[in-house]
Amino acid sequence: MAKEFVKDVTGMDEDFAQWYTDVVKKAELVDYSSVRGSMIIRPYGYAIWENIKNALDAKIKETGHENVYMPLFIPESLLQREKDHIEGFAPEVAWVTHGGEEELAERLCVRPTSEVLFGEHYKNIIHSYRDLPKLYNQWANVVRWEKTTRPFLRTLEFLWQEGHTCHETDEDAHEETVRMLEVYAELCEELLAIPVVKGQKTEKEKFAGAKYTYTIESLMHDGKALQSGTSHHLGDGFAKAFGIQFTDREGKLQHVQQTSWGLTTRIIGAMIMVHGDDRGLVVPPRVAPTQLMIVPIAQHKEGVLDFAYDLKEKLSSVARVGIDASDKKPGWKFNEYEMKGIPMRLEVGPRDIENGQVILARRDTGEKVTVPVGELVKRVPELLEEIQNTLFEKAREHREEMTIIALGFDEFKQVMAEKGGFVKAMWCGELACEEKIKEETSATSRCMPFEQEKVADTCVCCGKDAEKLVYWAKAY
Ligand code: AMP
Ligand code: ZN
Repeated sequence: MAKEFVKDVTGMDEDFAQWYTDVVKKAELVDYSSVRGSMIIRPYGYAIWENIKNALDAKIKETGHENVYMPLFIPESLLQREKDHIEGFAPEVAWVTHGGEEELAERLCVRPTSEVLFGEHYKNIIHSYRDLPKLYNQWANVVRWEKTTRPFLRTLEFLWQEGHTCHETDEDAHEETVRMLEVYAELCEELLAIPVVKGQKTEKEKFAGAKYTYTIESLMHDGKALQSGTSHHLGDGFAKAFGIQFTDREGKLQHVQQTSWGLTTRIIGAMIMVHGDDRGLVVPPRVAPTQLMIVPIAQHKEGVLDFAYDLKEKLSSVARVGIDASDKKPGWKFNEYEMKGIPMRLEVGPRDIENGQVILARRDTGEKVTVPVGELVKRVPELLEEIQNTLFEKAREHREEMTIIALGFDEFKQVMAEKGGFVKAMWCGELACEEKIKEETSATSRCMPFEQEKVADTCVCCGKDAEKLVYWAKAY
Protein backbone atom coordinates (compact mmCIF):
# COMPACT_ATOMS: atom_id res chain seq x y z
CA MET A 1 0.00 0.00 0.00
CA ALA A 2 1.46 3.33 -1.09
CA LYS A 3 2.17 5.64 1.81
CA GLU A 4 0.16 8.59 0.53
CA PHE A 5 -3.05 6.60 0.78
CA VAL A 6 -2.62 5.60 4.39
CA LYS A 7 -4.87 7.45 6.80
CA ASP A 8 -2.65 7.48 9.83
CA VAL A 9 -3.59 5.01 12.50
CA THR A 10 -1.18 4.73 15.41
CA GLY A 11 0.55 1.32 15.45
CA MET A 12 -1.21 -1.10 17.78
CA ASP A 13 1.95 -2.23 19.50
CA GLU A 14 3.18 1.33 19.80
CA ASP A 15 0.17 2.67 21.72
CA PHE A 16 -2.84 0.39 21.85
CA ALA A 17 -5.17 2.92 23.48
CA GLN A 18 -4.39 5.51 20.83
CA TRP A 19 -4.75 2.89 18.09
CA TYR A 20 -8.24 2.11 19.43
CA THR A 21 -9.25 5.76 19.49
CA ASP A 22 -7.92 6.26 15.96
CA VAL A 23 -9.78 3.24 14.63
CA VAL A 24 -13.19 4.08 16.08
CA LYS A 25 -12.92 7.59 14.67
CA LYS A 26 -11.32 6.87 11.29
CA ALA A 27 -13.43 3.84 10.49
CA GLU A 28 -16.37 6.23 11.13
CA LEU A 29 -17.95 4.14 13.86
CA VAL A 30 -18.43 6.98 16.33
CA ASP A 31 -18.04 10.65 16.93
CA TYR A 32 -17.70 12.35 20.29
CA SER A 33 -20.53 14.45 21.64
CA SER A 34 -20.37 17.42 23.99
CA VAL A 35 -21.11 15.29 27.06
CA ARG A 36 -18.08 13.45 28.38
CA GLY A 37 -18.37 9.71 27.86
CA SER A 38 -21.36 9.92 25.55
CA MET A 39 -20.85 8.88 21.98
CA ILE A 40 -22.58 9.42 18.70
CA ILE A 41 -22.91 6.07 16.96
CA ARG A 42 -22.49 6.81 13.26
CA PRO A 43 -24.23 4.86 10.46
CA TYR A 44 -21.45 2.31 10.05
CA GLY A 45 -21.21 1.67 13.79
CA TYR A 46 -24.96 1.48 14.10
CA ALA A 47 -25.25 -0.95 11.16
CA ILE A 48 -22.86 -3.29 13.00
CA TRP A 49 -24.94 -2.92 16.17
CA GLU A 50 -28.11 -3.67 14.20
CA ASN A 51 -26.60 -6.91 12.89
CA ILE A 52 -25.63 -7.94 16.42
CA LYS A 53 -29.02 -6.91 17.70
CA ASN A 54 -30.93 -8.79 15.01
CA ALA A 55 -28.95 -11.99 15.55
CA LEU A 56 -29.30 -11.79 19.34
CA ASP A 57 -32.96 -10.82 19.18
CA ALA A 58 -33.68 -13.90 17.06
CA LYS A 59 -31.93 -16.12 19.63
CA ILE A 60 -33.80 -14.45 22.49
CA LYS A 61 -37.11 -15.12 20.77
CA GLU A 62 -36.16 -18.69 19.81
CA THR A 63 -35.60 -19.38 23.50
CA GLY A 64 -39.14 -18.27 24.28
CA HIS A 65 -38.75 -14.65 25.37
CA GLU A 66 -40.98 -11.69 24.54
CA ASN A 67 -39.88 -8.10 24.08
CA VAL A 68 -41.37 -5.31 26.21
CA TYR A 69 -40.48 -1.70 26.94
CA MET A 70 -40.08 -0.16 30.39
CA PRO A 71 -39.88 3.52 31.33
CA LEU A 72 -36.62 5.46 31.39
CA PHE A 73 -37.16 6.90 34.89
CA ILE A 74 -37.12 5.18 38.27
CA PRO A 75 -38.45 6.96 41.38
CA GLU A 76 -35.83 7.04 44.14
CA SER A 77 -38.02 5.08 46.56
CA LEU A 78 -38.39 2.26 44.05
CA LEU A 79 -34.65 2.00 43.43
CA GLN A 80 -34.07 1.77 47.18
CA ARG A 81 -36.29 -1.25 47.75
CA GLU A 82 -33.55 -3.83 47.26
CA LYS A 83 -30.71 -2.96 49.61
CA ASP A 84 -27.70 -4.57 47.86
CA HIS A 85 -28.88 -3.32 44.50
CA ILE A 86 -29.06 0.36 45.48
CA GLU A 87 -25.78 0.09 47.34
CA GLY A 88 -24.07 -1.22 44.24
CA PHE A 89 -25.58 1.26 41.83
CA ALA A 90 -25.85 4.47 43.90
CA PRO A 91 -22.38 5.77 42.94
CA GLU A 92 -23.17 5.67 39.23
CA VAL A 93 -26.75 6.82 39.03
CA ALA A 94 -27.85 10.02 37.25
CA TRP A 95 -30.70 11.94 38.87
CA VAL A 96 -33.45 14.11 37.46
CA THR A 97 -34.46 16.71 40.03
CA HIS A 98 -36.52 19.16 37.99
CA GLY A 99 -39.36 19.03 35.48
CA GLY A 100 -39.16 22.32 33.66
CA GLU A 101 -38.65 24.93 36.36
CA GLU A 102 -40.31 22.92 39.04
CA GLU A 103 -38.46 20.83 41.57
CA LEU A 104 -39.82 17.29 41.70
CA ALA A 105 -41.33 16.02 44.95
CA GLU A 106 -39.30 12.85 44.50
CA ARG A 107 -36.16 12.69 42.38
CA LEU A 108 -36.09 10.25 39.50
CA CYS A 109 -33.09 8.25 38.46
CA VAL A 110 -32.31 7.49 34.85
CA ARG A 111 -32.35 3.67 34.72
CA PRO A 112 -28.89 2.12 35.13
CA THR A 113 -30.63 -1.27 34.71
CA SER A 114 -34.30 -2.16 35.15
CA GLU A 115 -34.62 -4.89 37.80
CA VAL A 116 -36.78 -2.67 40.01
CA LEU A 117 -39.09 -1.60 37.17
CA PHE A 118 -39.64 -5.22 36.21
CA GLY A 119 -40.05 -6.07 39.89
CA GLU A 120 -42.86 -3.59 40.34
CA HIS A 121 -44.58 -4.78 37.16
CA TYR A 122 -44.18 -8.49 37.89
CA LYS A 123 -45.81 -8.00 41.28
CA ASN A 124 -48.92 -6.81 39.45
CA ILE A 125 -49.13 -9.49 36.78
CA ILE A 126 -47.95 -12.69 38.49
CA HIS A 127 -50.37 -14.49 40.80
CA SER A 128 -50.23 -18.20 40.13
CA TYR A 129 -47.80 -20.86 38.88
CA ARG A 130 -49.86 -20.68 35.68
CA ASP A 131 -48.40 -17.19 35.10
CA LEU A 132 -44.88 -18.64 35.12
CA PRO A 133 -42.36 -18.56 33.69
CA LYS A 134 -42.42 -14.91 32.61
CA LEU A 135 -39.68 -14.45 30.04
CA TYR A 136 -39.30 -10.76 29.19
CA ASN A 137 -36.56 -8.86 27.43
CA GLN A 138 -36.16 -5.22 26.52
CA TRP A 139 -33.92 -3.36 24.09
CA ALA A 140 -33.07 0.00 25.59
CA ASN A 141 -30.51 2.58 26.56
CA VAL A 142 -29.27 2.84 30.13
CA VAL A 143 -27.10 5.36 31.96
CA ARG A 144 -24.27 4.72 34.38
CA TRP A 145 -22.14 7.67 35.51
CA GLU A 146 -18.77 6.04 34.86
CA LYS A 147 -15.60 7.79 35.98
CA THR A 148 -13.41 6.80 33.05
CA THR A 149 -14.98 6.19 29.69
CA ARG A 150 -14.05 4.91 26.26
CA PRO A 151 -16.16 4.55 23.11
CA PHE A 152 -18.20 1.32 23.20
CA LEU A 153 -16.22 -0.21 26.08
CA ARG A 154 -17.46 2.02 28.84
CA THR A 155 -19.82 4.88 28.08
CA LEU A 156 -22.19 6.90 30.26
CA GLU A 157 -25.10 5.90 28.12
CA PHE A 158 -25.08 2.58 26.33
CA LEU A 159 -27.43 0.44 24.31
CA TRP A 160 -28.23 -3.08 25.41
CA GLN A 161 -30.82 -5.71 25.88
CA GLU A 162 -31.76 -6.73 29.37
CA GLY A 163 -33.62 -9.96 29.98
CA HIS A 164 -35.69 -10.27 33.15
CA THR A 165 -37.38 -13.53 33.95
CA CYS A 166 -39.46 -15.10 36.73
CA HIS A 167 -39.62 -18.82 37.51
CA GLU A 168 -41.29 -21.24 39.89
CA THR A 169 -38.14 -22.86 41.21
CA ASP A 170 -34.53 -22.12 41.95
CA GLU A 171 -33.58 -24.87 39.49
CA ASP A 172 -35.65 -23.32 36.68
CA ALA A 173 -33.97 -19.96 37.25
CA HIS A 174 -30.57 -21.65 37.29
CA GLU A 175 -31.29 -23.32 33.95
CA GLU A 176 -32.35 -19.99 32.46
CA THR A 177 -29.17 -18.30 33.74
CA VAL A 178 -27.07 -20.97 32.06
CA ARG A 179 -29.17 -20.98 28.87
CA MET A 180 -28.75 -17.24 28.32
CA LEU A 181 -25.04 -17.31 29.03
CA GLU A 182 -24.82 -20.00 26.35
CA VAL A 183 -26.74 -17.73 23.98
CA TYR A 184 -24.19 -14.97 24.59
CA ALA A 185 -21.26 -17.33 24.15
CA GLU A 186 -22.68 -18.59 20.86
CA LEU A 187 -23.28 -15.05 19.64
CA CYS A 188 -19.70 -14.05 20.44
CA GLU A 189 -18.08 -17.11 18.98
CA GLU A 190 -20.23 -17.67 15.91
CA LEU A 191 -21.20 -14.16 14.85
CA LEU A 192 -18.28 -12.11 16.13
CA ALA A 193 -15.56 -14.79 15.99
CA ILE A 194 -14.57 -13.95 19.58
CA PRO A 195 -13.64 -16.97 21.72
CA VAL A 196 -14.91 -16.71 25.28
CA VAL A 197 -14.29 -18.27 28.67
CA LYS A 198 -17.54 -19.08 30.49
CA GLY A 199 -17.62 -19.03 34.23
CA GLN A 200 -18.91 -17.64 37.49
CA LYS A 201 -17.97 -14.32 39.06
CA THR A 202 -16.60 -14.26 42.60
CA GLU A 203 -18.75 -12.73 45.36
CA LYS A 204 -16.74 -9.52 45.04
CA GLU A 205 -17.41 -9.17 41.31
CA LYS A 206 -21.00 -10.38 41.14
CA PHE A 207 -23.96 -8.15 40.22
CA ALA A 208 -25.38 -6.02 43.02
CA GLY A 209 -28.41 -7.94 44.32
CA ALA A 210 -27.66 -11.26 42.60
CA LYS A 211 -27.32 -14.69 44.16
CA TYR A 212 -24.61 -15.40 41.61
CA THR A 213 -23.38 -14.04 38.27
CA TYR A 214 -22.22 -15.96 35.23
CA THR A 215 -20.01 -14.22 32.71
CA ILE A 216 -18.28 -14.61 29.39
CA GLU A 217 -14.76 -13.19 29.34
CA SER A 218 -12.73 -12.52 26.23
CA LEU A 219 -9.12 -11.52 25.71
CA MET A 220 -8.16 -8.46 23.69
CA HIS A 221 -5.12 -8.09 21.42
CA ASP A 222 -3.18 -6.22 24.13
CA GLY A 223 -3.66 -9.00 26.68
CA LYS A 224 -6.38 -7.30 28.71
CA ALA A 225 -9.65 -9.07 29.39
CA LEU A 226 -13.14 -7.79 28.72
CA GLN A 227 -16.32 -8.89 30.47
CA SER A 228 -18.46 -9.37 27.42
CA GLY A 229 -21.85 -10.36 28.80
CA THR A 230 -23.36 -11.38 32.12
CA SER A 231 -26.23 -13.57 33.26
CA HIS A 232 -27.46 -13.37 36.86
CA HIS A 233 -29.42 -15.72 39.07
CA LEU A 234 -31.24 -13.23 41.28
CA GLY A 235 -32.72 -15.81 43.67
CA ASP A 236 -35.75 -14.37 45.48
CA GLY A 237 -34.12 -11.17 46.75
CA PHE A 238 -35.98 -8.84 44.42
CA ALA A 239 -39.14 -10.96 44.71
CA LYS A 240 -39.09 -10.42 48.47
CA ALA A 241 -38.34 -6.71 48.16
CA PHE A 242 -41.17 -6.25 45.66
CA GLY A 243 -43.63 -8.86 46.92
CA ILE A 244 -43.67 -10.92 43.73
CA GLN A 245 -45.57 -13.97 44.93
CA PHE A 246 -47.47 -16.81 43.33
CA THR A 247 -49.65 -19.66 44.44
CA ASP A 248 -47.71 -22.82 43.67
CA ARG A 249 -49.01 -26.20 42.50
CA GLU A 250 -49.80 -27.22 46.11
CA GLY A 251 -51.72 -24.03 46.77
CA LYS A 252 -48.93 -22.46 48.85
CA LEU A 253 -47.83 -18.85 48.46
CA GLN A 254 -44.21 -18.53 47.27
CA HIS A 255 -41.78 -15.94 46.01
CA VAL A 256 -40.66 -16.24 42.39
CA GLN A 257 -37.06 -17.01 41.46
CA GLN A 258 -35.62 -14.49 39.02
CA THR A 259 -32.85 -13.99 36.50
CA SER A 260 -31.50 -11.04 34.54
CA TRP A 261 -28.93 -10.85 31.76
CA GLY A 262 -27.47 -8.15 29.53
CA LEU A 263 -25.24 -7.62 26.55
CA THR A 264 -24.27 -4.13 25.41
CA THR A 265 -22.65 -2.02 22.69
CA ARG A 266 -19.43 -2.85 24.55
CA ILE A 267 -19.25 -5.98 22.42
CA ILE A 268 -18.40 -3.82 19.40
CA GLY A 269 -15.33 -2.68 21.34
CA ALA A 270 -14.41 -6.34 21.83
CA MET A 271 -14.75 -6.98 18.11
CA ILE A 272 -12.44 -4.05 17.36
CA MET A 273 -9.79 -5.04 19.91
CA VAL A 274 -9.80 -8.73 19.09
CA HIS A 275 -9.63 -8.57 15.29
CA GLY A 276 -8.26 -5.13 14.36
CA ASP A 277 -4.75 -4.58 13.01
CA ASP A 278 -2.37 -1.78 12.00
CA ARG A 279 -4.47 -0.98 8.95
CA GLY A 280 -7.59 -0.48 11.06
CA LEU A 281 -10.76 -2.38 11.70
CA VAL A 282 -11.35 -6.01 10.71
CA VAL A 283 -15.03 -6.95 10.76
CA PRO A 284 -15.92 -10.66 10.74
CA PRO A 285 -18.02 -11.47 7.64
CA ARG A 286 -21.13 -12.65 9.50
CA VAL A 287 -21.56 -9.31 11.26
CA ALA A 288 -20.21 -7.06 8.48
CA PRO A 289 -22.80 -4.66 7.04
CA THR A 290 -20.89 -4.87 3.74
CA GLN A 291 -19.07 -8.15 3.17
CA LEU A 292 -17.65 -7.47 -0.26
CA MET A 293 -16.77 -4.07 -1.71
CA ILE A 294 -16.41 -3.78 -5.46
CA VAL A 295 -13.80 -1.29 -6.62
CA PRO A 296 -13.83 -0.70 -10.38
CA ILE A 297 -10.41 0.02 -11.92
CA ALA A 298 -10.12 2.54 -14.80
CA GLN A 299 -13.84 2.97 -14.48
CA HIS A 300 -13.96 5.72 -17.09
CA LYS A 301 -13.21 3.10 -19.76
CA GLU A 302 -16.16 1.84 -21.63
CA GLY A 303 -18.01 -1.10 -20.16
CA VAL A 304 -16.21 -1.21 -16.80
CA LEU A 305 -18.94 0.31 -14.65
CA ASP A 306 -21.69 -1.66 -16.36
CA PHE A 307 -19.72 -4.83 -15.76
CA ALA A 308 -19.12 -3.93 -12.11
CA TYR A 309 -22.79 -3.13 -11.45
CA ASP A 310 -23.75 -6.36 -13.15
CA LEU A 311 -21.44 -8.27 -10.80
CA LYS A 312 -22.92 -6.47 -7.82
CA GLU A 313 -26.37 -7.59 -8.78
CA LYS A 314 -25.30 -11.20 -9.39
CA LEU A 315 -23.41 -11.43 -6.11
CA SER A 316 -26.11 -9.78 -4.04
CA SER A 317 -27.89 -13.11 -3.76
CA VAL A 318 -24.92 -14.65 -1.95
CA ALA A 319 -23.38 -11.77 0.01
CA ARG A 320 -23.92 -8.19 1.22
CA VAL A 321 -22.20 -6.33 -1.59
CA GLY A 322 -21.26 -2.68 -1.99
CA ILE A 323 -19.72 -0.80 -4.88
CA ASP A 324 -17.73 2.42 -4.86
CA ALA A 325 -18.11 4.07 -8.25
CA SER A 326 -17.15 7.51 -6.94
CA ASP A 327 -14.41 9.44 -8.76
CA LYS A 328 -11.88 8.87 -5.97
CA LYS A 329 -8.70 6.98 -6.88
CA PRO A 330 -8.75 3.16 -6.49
CA GLY A 331 -5.83 3.41 -4.03
CA TRP A 332 -7.86 5.72 -1.80
CA LYS A 333 -10.77 3.30 -1.94
CA PHE A 334 -8.58 0.30 -1.11
CA ASN A 335 -7.29 2.08 1.96
CA GLU A 336 -10.71 3.32 3.03
CA TYR A 337 -12.35 -0.11 2.97
CA GLU A 338 -9.37 -1.72 4.61
CA MET A 339 -9.64 0.88 7.37
CA LYS A 340 -13.34 0.02 7.68
CA GLY A 341 -12.51 -3.66 7.92
CA ILE A 342 -14.71 -4.81 5.05
CA PRO A 343 -13.89 -8.54 4.79
CA MET A 344 -13.27 -8.67 1.06
CA ARG A 345 -12.59 -6.40 -1.91
CA LEU A 346 -13.29 -7.19 -5.54
CA GLU A 347 -11.16 -5.39 -8.12
CA VAL A 348 -12.26 -5.36 -11.72
CA GLY A 349 -10.74 -3.44 -14.67
CA PRO A 350 -10.73 -3.57 -18.48
CA ARG A 351 -8.09 -6.30 -18.69
CA ASP A 352 -9.93 -8.48 -16.18
CA ILE A 353 -13.12 -8.11 -18.15
CA GLU A 354 -11.31 -9.20 -21.30
CA ASN A 355 -9.97 -12.25 -19.47
CA GLY A 356 -13.28 -13.05 -17.81
CA GLN A 357 -11.85 -12.80 -14.30
CA VAL A 358 -11.61 -10.52 -11.27
CA ILE A 359 -9.35 -10.13 -8.25
CA LEU A 360 -10.55 -10.86 -4.73
CA ALA A 361 -8.51 -9.42 -1.87
CA ARG A 362 -8.97 -10.67 1.70
CA ARG A 363 -8.91 -8.09 4.47
CA ASP A 364 -7.73 -10.53 7.14
CA THR A 365 -4.63 -11.91 5.38
CA GLY A 366 -4.13 -9.38 2.59
CA GLU A 367 -4.05 -12.32 0.18
CA LYS A 368 -5.22 -11.74 -3.41
CA VAL A 369 -6.67 -14.39 -5.68
CA THR A 370 -7.77 -14.26 -9.31
CA VAL A 371 -11.17 -15.84 -9.80
CA PRO A 372 -13.01 -16.56 -13.08
CA VAL A 373 -16.25 -14.58 -13.18
CA GLY A 374 -18.28 -17.77 -13.59
CA GLU A 375 -17.01 -19.08 -10.23
CA LEU A 376 -17.72 -15.99 -8.16
CA VAL A 377 -21.14 -16.99 -6.91
CA LYS A 378 -19.56 -20.07 -5.43
CA ARG A 379 -16.19 -18.63 -4.35
CA VAL A 380 -17.35 -15.45 -2.60
CA PRO A 381 -19.43 -17.18 0.11
CA GLU A 382 -16.74 -19.84 0.50
CA LEU A 383 -14.06 -17.23 1.05
CA LEU A 384 -16.23 -15.26 3.48
CA GLU A 385 -16.72 -18.44 5.50
CA GLU A 386 -12.97 -19.04 5.40
CA ILE A 387 -12.28 -15.51 6.65
CA GLN A 388 -14.79 -15.96 9.48
CA ASN A 389 -13.09 -19.21 10.55
CA THR A 390 -9.58 -17.83 10.19
CA LEU A 391 -10.45 -14.86 12.42
CA PHE A 392 -11.85 -17.13 15.10
CA GLU A 393 -8.87 -19.47 14.96
CA LYS A 394 -6.41 -16.59 15.09
CA ALA A 395 -8.16 -15.09 18.11
CA ARG A 396 -8.23 -18.49 19.82
CA GLU A 397 -4.54 -19.03 19.20
CA HIS A 398 -3.73 -15.57 20.53
CA ARG A 399 -5.72 -16.32 23.66
CA GLU A 400 -3.96 -19.67 24.14
CA GLU A 401 -0.59 -17.98 23.76
CA MET A 402 -1.61 -15.38 26.31
CA THR A 403 -2.94 -17.84 28.90
CA ILE A 404 -0.58 -19.29 31.45
CA ILE A 405 -0.85 -21.29 34.63
CA ALA A 406 0.78 -19.69 37.66
CA LEU A 407 1.63 -21.88 40.62
CA GLY A 408 3.48 -19.26 42.66
CA PHE A 409 2.74 -15.62 43.41
CA ASP A 410 6.11 -14.38 42.09
CA GLU A 411 5.45 -16.03 38.76
CA PHE A 412 1.96 -14.49 38.72
CA LYS A 413 3.35 -11.00 39.38
CA GLN A 414 6.04 -11.38 36.77
CA VAL A 415 3.62 -12.50 34.05
CA MET A 416 1.28 -9.61 34.79
CA ALA A 417 4.12 -7.11 34.76
CA GLU A 418 5.70 -8.36 31.55
CA LYS A 419 3.10 -9.98 29.37
CA GLY A 420 -0.46 -9.64 30.66
CA GLY A 421 -3.06 -12.04 29.36
CA PHE A 422 -4.98 -14.60 31.39
CA VAL A 423 -3.38 -16.19 34.40
CA LYS A 424 -4.97 -19.41 35.59
CA ALA A 425 -4.30 -19.87 39.28
CA MET A 426 -5.86 -21.54 42.30
CA TRP A 427 -7.68 -19.42 44.89
CA CYS A 428 -8.74 -20.15 48.46
CA GLY A 429 -12.01 -18.23 48.19
CA GLU A 430 -10.99 -15.42 50.58
CA LEU A 431 -11.73 -11.80 49.67
CA ALA A 432 -8.43 -10.79 51.28
CA CYS A 433 -6.46 -12.79 48.70
CA GLU A 434 -8.52 -11.45 45.83
CA GLU A 435 -7.80 -7.91 47.02
CA LYS A 436 -4.13 -8.57 47.58
CA ILE A 437 -3.77 -10.04 44.11
CA LYS A 438 -5.40 -6.95 42.63
CA GLU A 439 -3.18 -4.64 44.65
CA GLU A 440 0.05 -6.35 43.73
CA THR A 441 -0.60 -7.37 40.13
CA SER A 442 -3.44 -5.08 38.94
CA ALA A 443 -5.23 -8.25 37.84
CA THR A 444 -8.81 -8.88 38.94
CA SER A 445 -10.59 -12.18 39.13
CA ARG A 446 -12.38 -12.58 35.79
CA CYS A 447 -14.22 -15.80 36.58
CA MET A 448 -14.15 -19.26 38.07
CA PRO A 449 -14.46 -21.16 34.79
CA PHE A 450 -17.16 -23.81 34.39
CA GLU A 451 -14.39 -26.08 33.14
CA GLN A 452 -12.44 -26.42 36.36
CA GLU A 453 -8.95 -27.90 36.60
CA LYS A 454 -6.96 -28.47 39.74
CA VAL A 455 -3.56 -27.10 38.77
CA ALA A 456 -2.37 -27.01 42.39
CA ASP A 457 -3.63 -27.80 45.87
CA THR A 458 -3.05 -24.40 47.39
CA CYS A 459 -4.01 -20.75 46.87
CA VAL A 460 -1.53 -18.88 44.69
CA CYS A 461 -1.61 -15.98 47.15
CA CYS A 462 -1.79 -17.31 50.72
CA GLY A 463 -0.81 -20.97 50.33
CA LYS A 464 -3.93 -22.27 52.11
CA ASP A 465 -5.97 -25.13 50.63
CA ALA A 466 -7.73 -24.15 47.45
CA GLU A 467 -10.51 -25.76 45.48
CA LYS A 468 -11.23 -23.17 42.81
CA LEU A 469 -9.33 -22.35 39.66
CA VAL A 470 -9.74 -18.70 38.71
CA TYR A 471 -8.94 -16.79 35.53
CA TRP A 472 -7.19 -13.53 36.44
CA ALA A 473 -6.38 -10.63 34.14
CA LYS A 474 -6.08 -6.89 33.91
CA ALA A 475 -9.40 -5.84 32.48
CA TYR A 476 -11.14 -3.04 30.62
P1 AMP B 1 -24.57 -5.61 34.44
O1 AMP B 1 -26.00 -5.21 34.36
O2 AMP B 1 -23.81 -4.75 35.41
O3 AMP B 1 -24.34 -7.08 34.61
O4 AMP B 1 -23.93 -5.24 33.01
C1 AMP B 1 -24.22 -6.00 31.89
C2 AMP B 1 -23.10 -5.88 30.91
O5 AMP B 1 -22.99 -4.55 30.49
C3 AMP B 1 -21.73 -6.19 31.46
O6 AMP B 1 -21.44 -7.56 31.32
C4 AMP B 1 -20.79 -5.35 30.65
O7 AMP B 1 -20.29 -6.13 29.58
C5 AMP B 1 -21.66 -4.25 30.11
N1 AMP B 1 -21.39 -2.91 30.65
C6 AMP B 1 -21.31 -2.54 31.95
N2 AMP B 1 -21.07 -1.21 32.07
C7 AMP B 1 -20.97 -0.72 30.79
C8 AMP B 1 -20.72 0.58 30.25
N3 AMP B 1 -20.53 1.65 31.03
N4 AMP B 1 -20.70 0.70 28.89
C9 AMP B 1 -20.90 -0.36 28.09
N5 AMP B 1 -21.14 -1.60 28.56
C10 AMP B 1 -21.18 -1.81 29.90
ZN1 ZN C 1 -5.74 -17.36 49.57
